[in-house]
Amino acid sequence: MQRLQQLSDQVELVFSDIGQRYAQYQRDRGLFCRSGCGECCLHPGIEATVLEMLPLAFELIKEGKAESTLDALAAHDKPGCFFYSRHSEDGKQGQCSVYMKRPGICRLFGAAGYNGREGEVQLSVCKNIKADYPQAYQDSLIALESDPPPMIRNGKEQIRQIDYELGGMNFPINEAMEQALQKVLFEQYYLGLADAE
Ligand code: SF4
Repeated sequence: MQRLQQLSDQVELVFSDIGQRYAQYQRDRGLFCRSGCGECCLHPGIEATVLEMLPLAFELIKEGKAESTLDALAAHDKPGCFFYSRHSEDGKQGQCSVYMKRPGICRLFGAAGYNGREGEVQLSVCKNIKADYPQAYQDSLIALESDPPPMIRNGKEQIRQIDYELGGMNFPINEAMEQALQKVLFEQYYLGLADAE
């Protein structure tokens, strides 16, 4: 099997674990994402590694959309993620068009932990969730020690451990997608040549 396909399969296994744990924390604490909200996908600073884009790259190739996606990515000039489908004028309402294959960083959005300056655990919660569930947010802060949130850096590290070369560097999400597609297409082309010999 191709090396990148093997890595992609491993990444998907980790995604499944991460997705369940981080979503479970949000459910348990009552910190729910606003229905139809896609504000985090509009953020111009979303970064991902090439490694976590591999499952989506293989899916696009399977669907015959690799070349058209590369062309569209090159022409994309809106802020935020290329795969975000806007449902409102201001873009705040919308949805992910590749939800099942979205990268790892998108599975950590919402509510999760990070370390503050002194190494203390802090809670990262989206401003809309804070506004919608102020009591649940306060309760979650009080329960930081007894019910600690899953840490963002642990989720990222779980993915990175699969391959430090492809998982070690972050790029703007659309650029990470472009690189993942190019790498998979190149590997497939190279293996095709080897098979033909
Ligand atoms: S891949 Fe999907 S969830 Fe992630 S930023 Fe893009 S649109 Fe949002």
